[in-house]
Amino acid sequence: MVLRDIKSYVNLRKHDMKVKLEGMEFPPSLAIIQVGDNEASNRYVRNKLKDCEEVGIAAHAYTYSVEITEFELLEEIDHLVSFYDGVIVQLPLPPHIRIEVAQAAIPPEKDVDGFRHDSPFNPATPSGIMNYLDFCGFDLEGKEVMVIGRSDIVGKPLAKMMIDKNATVTLCHSYSKLSNHLHSSDLIVSAVGKPKFLNCYSIHVPVIDVGINFVDGKLVGDCFNTEGREVTPVPGGVGLLTRLALLENVMKAKELKDGQMDKSFTNS
Ligand code: NAD
Repeated sequence: MVLRDIKSYVNLRKHDMKVKLEGMEFPPSLAIIQVGDNEASNRYVRNKLKDCEEVGIAAHAYTYSVEITEFELLEEIDHLVSFYDGVIVQLPLPPHIRIEVAQAAIPPEKDVDGFRHDSPFNPATPSGIMNYLDFCGFDLEGKEVMVIGRSDIVGKPLAKMMIDKNATVTLCHSYSKLSNHLHSSDLIVSAVGKPKFLNCYSIHVPVIDVGINFVDGKLVGDCFNTEGREVTPVPGGVGLLTRLALLENVMKAKELKDGQMDKSFTNS
């Protein structure tokens, strides 16, 4: 067995963070910006606030009516960035607000979602997966990895991070012949977003299931026939790793800010 229990791993890391932040006069802080009343977004924001509270990060959610204009939202973001170490915009946004414009309003050193090209942070999902593989002792060097899904927030950055660790990565998408790679890989990541997409019956290598799908109101991943296979669970898998990585990015944002302050003091 390569993969380890994700819940225990996440609890362990959260405990370490809590200990680190205990008694801190100015703990790291996070502003979560939400527009509208999307049910899934409400749940994600609630979870983020709960995670932050658990470890001692000062987080606050700012919720705006769907009527807010893009210009007004940019003004709000501009105001909030001066008070917080990290700022994130919960997706989706209503169609009249351009995602890239809202994200560009967050300075790179506060972009803890890691969505900007010049952000010093990695996007939370790939970052969470990489840290977890490291914890599991899965050495990527020389391994063949199949990543299915080429989005800018999961597949592409994950492939790059794995290549940087000397893995050979095949980044597959809807035009790929998956069967060419399924049985020659040492690790498979499915980030497609289709229930019953990946049949794991004949797969005997670890599989990271990133998919989030709702079937009859029930949350399921991309994988099926997972009994007796090493597949990360959904729920209780990559979602938890993503949430953990966001907390880590907020901690880093605070460290970065404090580091910069020290530097500016030294320079003065
Ligand atoms: P996306 O939804 O932007 O794109 C899906 C990708 O799947 C595309 O690159 C497409 O080429 C590929 N694809 C679609 N059909 C395919 C097929 N038949 N064969 C091969 N590839 C195919 O991707 P995303 O934003 O990375 O999201 C993917 C899934 O991961 C979604 O279910 C999303 O909700 C989930 N997700 C989960 C987390 C988490 O924290 N657990 C985080 C981000 C995304």
